[in-house]
Amino acid sequence: MIKNYINGQWVSSSAKESVDIINPATGELLNRCPLSGAGEVDQAVKAAQDAFKSWRETPPTERAQYFFKLKTRLEESLDELARLVTMENGKTLVEAKGSVRRGIQMVETACGVPTLMMGKTLEDIASGIDCHAVRRPMGVFAAIAPFNFPAMVPFWFWPFAVAAGNTFVLKPSERVPLTQARIFELINEVGFPKGVINMVHGAKDAVNAICTHPDVVGVSFVGSTPVAKHVYTTATAAGKRVQALGGAKNFMVILPDAIMEQSVKTALDSIIGCAGERCLAGSVILSVTNKTNQEVTEGIVRYAKETMVGNGLDKNTQMGPMISQVAKDRVKGLIQSALDEGAKILVDGRQGVDAMPGYYLKPTVLTGITKKMRIAQEEVFGPVVCLAQVETFDEAIEWINSSHYANTTTLFTSSGAAARKFSYEVNPSMIGINIGVPAPMAFFSFGGAKDSFFGDVKVHGTACMEFFTDTKVTVQRWIKNSSIW
Ligand code: NAD
Repeated sequence: MIKNYINGQWVSSSAKESVDIINPATGELLNRCPLSGAGEVDQAVKAAQDAFKSWRETPPTERAQYFFKLKTRLEESLDELARLVTMENGKTLVEAKGSVRRGIQMVETACGVPTLMMGKTLEDIASGIDCHAVRRPMGVFAAIAPFNFPAMVPFWFWPFAVAAGNTFVLKPSERVPLTQARIFELINEVGFPKGVINMVHGAKDAVNAICTHPDVVGVSFVGSTPVAKHVYTTATAAGKRVQALGGAKNFMVILPDAIMEQSVKTALDSIIGCAGERCLAGSVILSVTNKTNQEVTEGIVRYAKETMVGNGLDKNTQMGPMISQVAKDRVKGLIQSALDEGAKILVDGRQGVDAMPGYYLKPTVLTGITKKMRIAQEEVFGPVVCLAQVETFDEAIEWINSSHYANTTTLFTSSGAAARKFSYEVNPSMIGINIGVPAPMAFFSFGGAKDSFFGDVKVHGTACMEFFTDTKVTVQRWIKNSSIW
């Protein structure tokens, strides 16, 4: 059974319930995760609250030193961490390594806290009166993470919050807590003062305890839309700042002037990479005109059939398993719903997986997708390519904007004018132009719109200090009271 990390100590949970942590490639039991409750969240918040005063008084330049050390330890542990991600999540080693690298970039960016956190000053806002605004840490923040990026997603939050002088409680996904367990060993080695960063393992009860705890000032959440909405409404009702990133339905438009071979490969990688379990994964390809649709279909079918599916630890594997049998059955249900509603299956990834040991679903290609089908509206979160044909670029944009999700969308084109029109007119907040997974890096902000994001302030990049600090303004006038100058 893995342990919580509270007040600088590894602590056994008193929870009676736990969940199995399963390697999705083999079905093997890796460990067990306790489902800690409100009492343990309270202990972690108290530890963080007690640590806050002296941590916030530690100069930002000194706080930054812990992150320089952590960055070095993470670099040294990159391969080991990637292996853990693959083992508990299923993605390939290459994908896992990329995700750990993205996490490390957050730590690197947080090293710049003395600059990131600077305030603003203006002399003479009125005659002889100056105004200065500083950013101040606020207290205890918390983050709740999903299963699909065990290493990266927690790094979207806590390095920025803690570098800014706050203290923190992390609740990883109960399905993939092993990578964070190792990362917290590195955090422990780096020697952050006791209570500054804590981790409580659990699920629903721990989440609800975080959202209602009187001493938690802000909550960051990443996960499915229903839970994002729940966290947003519960935690804001309890007076907290909240940023809650939800699910997605991402459309990719291919125009006739796109560089076809490259575009088709990029679109397929976006859809089936990480077995489709990415919030930025493409889902429906909207090909503009019949000719484009034919070319796209031919390429997608060819590449989908060639994809090597297997254990992510194997060097030749291009796509790993899904996270669980439940997830696989849900995606199979969505494929069946599309067929029942009139779609045709060109590559059936449900075939040839039963003899495999884990939760495998091979790339599946559906054609004849229409806007009203369930599969065109719901998040699939699996390796399913949905092909649809539209007659005009405007029709494609209209389709994208009719979705209640708005996380990301991609256009494949060689026209600057088309690219400009697309970025200008579509709803999603993260746009790819000839890029399949347009994930903003640490120094830009991340987050969608509509049902993909609940809150006001996005994640990392320039937005992070808005979320993790309060702005305090001092307006001052100094009246001369001396006869010697
Ligand atoms: P999930 O919503 O099931 O779980 C996320 C977190 O919420 C976990 O820590 C879990 O313990 C907790 N949780 C689950 N059910 C709960 C409940 N009823 N009450 C309170 N807490 C609960 O999500 P998941 O399956 O782990 O992750 C996949 C989802 O995350 C997908 O929808 C994906 O699009 C989304 N996601 C979004 C982004 C983004 O940036 N928008 C990034 C990654 C993942």
